[in-house]
Amino acid sequence: IIEVRGLKKAFDQNMVLKDINFAVKKEEKVVIIGPSGGGKSTLLRCLNHLDGNYTGDVLFKGQNLGQLSKKELQLCRRKMGMVFQQFNLFPHKSVLENITFAPVKLKLMSEAEAIANAHDLLKQVGLDEKAKAYPQSLSGGQQQRVAIVRSLAMQPEVMLFDEPTSALDPEMVGEVLGVMERLAKTGMTMVIVTHEMDFAQQIADKVLFMDNGHVADIGTPDYLFNHSKNFRTRTFLAKVM
Ligand code: ATP
Ligand code: MG
Repeated sequence: IIEVRGLKKAFDQNMVLKDINFAVKKEEKVVIIGPSGGGKSTLLRCLNHLDGNYTGDVLFKGQNLGQLSKKELQLCRRKMGMVFQQFNLFPHKSVLENITFAPVKLKLMSEAEAIANAHDLLKQVGLDEKAKAYPQSLSGGQQQRVAIVRSLAMQPEVMLFDEPTSALDPEMVGEVLGVMERLAKTGMTMVIVTHEMDFAQQIADKVLFMDNGHVADIGTPDYLFNHSKNFRTRTFLAKVM
């Protein structure tokens, strides 16, 4: 569903992505790990063209994002939900309004449909009683679950996660990973940047180890965590596990 070919990106003289190639199949869970500054967030931002300033090709369902009209690109980008480390909820909107705002504004659903859909999704993450609450009255874990629901309300075909639990207190990490695990079971295609190695091993079909702008190692979780002889992979894992 996503294909990356010869992707390169620089910030001024600093080459941050150096010839990245990989693909994500429909329903696949691809986890990206690697040291800080390796280019994980930059890669994720290129996948949904949040940053379109790169060379090489990013294809979504066979369409080359760099060659689409503005309108076509918008339609593609809507199909890719993104969840960040910082939850980025609208502070002056209630939980319900946060979730219904985009689908109604973009006329994907009537307001009544969007509201019903939002309640349905909130129930699935155990937060329906918070529908009228405002973000600042929620815990970090609750806010992140709302942020995930807000993305899902757009009915994406792929979900991109950039360290969704890194800003959370440890006791709240589990509830967010739980929501992601359940989402994975529904068959959602997911690309996840995370430092949660147990979660990565458990959920991934494929793990990418990104180091210094390269996909330095790639394979199944069993290969990457237990059998890889790649020196950089071994050194990194020894540090984080
Ligand atoms: P982390 O694990 O800390 O989130 P990362 O793997 O996500 O790291 P990136 O955020 O993609 O790494 O950064 C890769 C490199 O690109 C770093 O050297 C960073 O300094 C640089 N970089 C990222 N964003 C910008 C920017 N907007 N302007 C200039 N340089 C940037
Ligand atoms: Mg990052």
